[in-house]
Amino acid sequence: MRFLKWFGKGSFSHGVHPPTNKEVTAQKKIRRLPFPDTLVIPLNQHIGKPSKLLVHKGQEVVRGEPIAAADGFVSVPIHAPATGRIKDIRLMPTSRGEQSMSIVLEVYEGDTQAVLWNRDIDPDQLDGEQIRQAIQDMGMVGLGGAAFPSHVKMTIPPDKTVETLVVNGCECEPYLSCDHRTMIENPDALMRGIGYLMRATGVNNAVVGIEDNKMDAVELLRQHIPAGSNITVEAVETKYPQGSEKMLVKSLLGREVPAGKIPLDVGAVVNNVGTVTAVGQLLARGEGMTERVVTVTGPGVEKPGNYIIPLGTPIGFVLKQVGYSGERNDFVLGGPMMGPSVSDLNTPITKGSSGLLILNEAEIQKETRRIWPCIKCGHCVNACPMHLNPAQLGQLAGKREYAMMAENFHLNDCFECGCCSYVCPSNIPLVQHFRIAKAFNREQAA
Ligand code: SF4
Ligand code: SF4
Repeated sequence: MRFLKWFGKGSFSHGVHPPTNKEVTAQKKIRRLPFPDTLVIPLNQHIGKPSKLLVHKGQEVVRGEPIAAADGFVSVPIHAPATGRIKDIRLMPTSRGEQSMSIVLEVYEGDTQAVLWNRDIDPDQLDGEQIRQAIQDMGMVGLGGAAFPSHVKMTIPPDKTVETLVVNGCECEPYLSCDHRTMIENPDALMRGIGYLMRATGVNNAVVGIEDNKMDAVELLRQHIPAGSNITVEAVETKYPQGSEKMLVKSLLGREVPAGKIPLDVGAVVNNVGTVTAVGQLLARGEGMTERVVTVTGPGVEKPGNYIIPLGTPIGFVLKQVGYSGERNDFVLGGPMMGPSVSDLNTPITKGSSGLLILNEAEIQKETRRIWPCIKCGHCVNACPMHLNPAQLGQLAGKREYAMMAENFHLNDCFECGCCSYVCPSNIPLVQHFRIAKAFNREQAA
């Protein structure tokens, strides 16, 4: 690592070092949770157009069968996560804070829940375009949290040249360890997925970037690199938000992604290890996405760990399975830095749910400390990986100068990592201000 840093690689400037809190779950093997009685499957689990309904109330479906189709290019289908009967189709709560049209599936008790529907494909015979189509058909989206349709990311515009597939194994959010366990337990599927995605994008090189607090994964994956392939595995500094695309491209390739641009603009396409592994597993079997690995953890959780959970499982069911203590709890879907809090226990696990973090009263109190005026200490400026001025943006947000924040102070370059809020000694909820400002500007522009 030190060698890499001399050459400006292995890390990025600014960022923070929150306690990782991964030790408990990172050492445990991935286990499977049982199926609940009822699954709640939103039609808008991904970025883009919601999926189009293919089923009706009362219809029987088998596990793996498509129950909603992609509605256009920036959309993906949804597959039944269990064998059962469609009980209802109605608005239900989601982690996005809004109700969403959802398929309510009554799960058949006693069924083996084997995947009974798949496509007969041989990925080794497919060309790049066919692989991208197969990836869309399997309903694959970025499993790191963004839930952006993977086939869209893999489609390189004709005016761009991309030569490197960056595989993101950083998992920089505290508490989460599902990617770590996925790498440790499925190295061959990950390598297979990398091969498929290299063909899908037409790139010649792939590099897996992993934070140096997971050296067991670095060493294991290096042993599983197929002979003769242009795949490398590199350790990068453990620092939040190392796993954000722009930071990782800088750390691994030494390239700055300019403001307003994406990794494609500097010759890289980035995918999360969970996504790539799932492609490696499912494409060969011709199956759609029906489940995912989720880290379930937090102070007071009786059985923390990484669990394979059917999509659509309500978080209330997950909580009953893992057990937790505390009279007042906060539930976060994802990691503590960027994940949304949810209050309705009917909210389901969806394709983008990497974690379920259960905070107890002591943790909540830490989050709700008194807010003081800005003391102009500059800590937020030194923490911001996008080199913004969060203190100034915060002051403008206080005056509701939202348009000015975007026009003159690069609000839209903020990717809501939360570093500024984390370091602020005055406890100013800067990132929340920025989310509100962006939402306001979006509404004004609509
Ligand atoms: S939340 Fe935005 S402003 Fe704050 S540190 Fe992250 S990128 Fe910078
Ligand atoms: S860290 Fe907080 S107190 Fe310090 S300059 Fe930034 S906003 Fe002000």
